[in-house]
Amino acid sequence: MAGRIPRNFIDDLLARTDVVDVIDSLLPLKKKGANYSACCPFHNEKTPSFTVSQDKQFYHCFGCGVSGSAINFLMDYSHLDFVEAIEELASRAGVEVVREQGFEPDKPKRDLTPLLQMNENVNAFYQEQLKQHATADRAKKYLKNRGLTGEVAKVFQLGFAPSGWDNLLSSLGQDKESLDVLRELGLLITNENNRTYDRFRERIMFPIRNKRGQTIGFGGRILDSGEPKYLNSPETPLYHKGREVYGLHEALKSSSKIQHIVLVEGYLDVISLYQQGICNTVAALGTAITREHIDLLFRSVSELIICMDGDSAGQKAAWRAMTNALPALRRGRTIRVLVLEQGEDPDSVIREKGAAHFERLIDGATPLSTYFFDYLEAQCSLDSIEGRASYMEQAGPLLATLPKGHFETLMKKRLAELTKISSPRVNVAAQARFGSRQVTRRPTKKLPSAVRYLIKVLLHEPAFAKKIETDDTWLTLDLRGMDVLKQVLSIADENQALSSGMLLERFRGDVNEGAVKALFLEEKLVAGDAFEQEFLDAIECLKEQSREKRREELLKKAANWSDEETSEYRKLIKYKQEVRE
Ligand SMILES: [Zn+2]
Repeated sequence: MAGRIPRNFIDDLLARTDVVDVIDSLLPLKKKGANYSACCPFHNEKTPSFTVSQDKQFYHCFGCGVSGSAINFLMDYSHLDFVEAIEELASRAGVEVVREQGFEPDKPKRDLTPLLQMNENVNAFYQEQLKQHATADRAKKYLKNRGLTGEVAKVFQLGFAPSGWDNLLSSLGQDKESLDVLRELGLLITNENNRTYDRFRERIMFPIRNKRGQTIGFGGRILDSGEPKYLNSPETPLYHKGREVYGLHEALKSSSKIQHIVLVEGYLDVISLYQQGICNTVAALGTAITREHIDLLFRSVSELIICMDGDSAGQKAAWRAMTNALPALRRGRTIRVLVLEQGEDPDSVIREKGAAHFERLIDGATPLSTYFFDYLEAQCSLDSIEGRASYMEQAGPLLATLPKGHFETLMKKRLAELTKISSPRVNVAAQARFGSRQVTRRPTKKLPSAVRYLIKVLLHEPAFAKKIETDDTWLTLDLRGMDVLKQVLSIADENQALSSGMLLERFRGDVNEGAVKALFLEEKLVAGDAFEQEFLDAIECLKEQSREKRREELLKKAANWSDEETSEYRKLIKYKQEVRE
């Protein structure tokens, strides 16, 4: 099981993240004074009361009360769970999510260079085998039969894994270190009898490269009729099939002006389209298209065309890809779907009918809105109440995942028209199913004012924690809220560059989470608030309370004072007089 994500990783991630960028990428913000604002995506409004503070790394809506850090925003807006939100932020920041292993202390980030280096060696090895190996003719013949030239094989760095159990093992796995790396990369397998052998045998090899062109894994297509037809690297520290696509590096390299990317099913589709001059295609790696794939692609282009095979499996895959893509459809991004005829796939179309024909098909691909309603209509008849109810049940929750905006509004309106259910109900049905977070403010326990005030100011200005000495006696006063104050101080002590958002994030799941957040929201999100004097006054007030307590303690045993106690009492009285003056 994956370990817990360590707190310091979340702190670091939030320190690298700008809440303004994160929100602005999903919901365009306008600068307004020191803050940014927009119409709230969580309630209906015409004048913006949704405010984002860059200074505090926090957002708040004065209309409906939602608030939080970049993590909260992704959770609420993009319907992600906590871990998914962290993963999204990590991918935006270009870092791997670190997880705790059992009870080991946080491990330093691993250097993946040796793994990448080995993959490059293996890639070169397979390419060499395709050129030189005695049995490579079969592989070459296969590629030729698929209509592929040596040129395109070079672009995609195609290779060959000969038959036999130890071609790679005996060439690159000579020492223990290399063996371990090859095993970790899934290129060698050691079975229960402790026998080690090559994973890929008698296959055409396709190196899988990430956007930057680094070889992160391999796919292999069998040459004879054996199973499985396609075999990929297992998940490794470099290769995550749910996050990478095949061909993106080559597509982006082919031109700097790619307008859209076509998503197809197989490696060979990508390569054969490329050879015909359609270079902007990618394929998923033997898995359904995920939201992460879609996000990855939308970082490079603003339009995606989903083109799956013309069989029922392909149709289902297209629908699933489209539904996974809905939450990513913010303003300016579009998706179209190209449904091929029964029995066709992109490779067969381009080989039989040519590139120009395929380009025309791409140009005429169906807009997502049309595809969405047509697909559902083929499943549920709109002629009966039952059919319309079932239509609504399928469509409502899916449309609820769309980011707020005109597209979402129009899609919901269309759904209402088709099902003859009035528009507001569409919203209700959609929201109820997805359990949109109810905005509730937990009641705050009333804290004595000075402690309460200190916490509030620290939440807004975590750097003020330095103004409090951690061994001050007043911190031992038995006052409500003192535990929370100490919690805040200890978090601030650990991390010098703490933002409000990070500090509040530390209270996630804590018994005091609600109280702390409510306290924070009592102040406006104004950048550079001048709290300092009041803050020092509140500390002074607590110091006086602490002295008063000590005076009372001393008075109780006045008859038996030692010399030190006598002089301590005098000092305490003097303080009292000074405070009065
Ligand atoms: Zn709101």
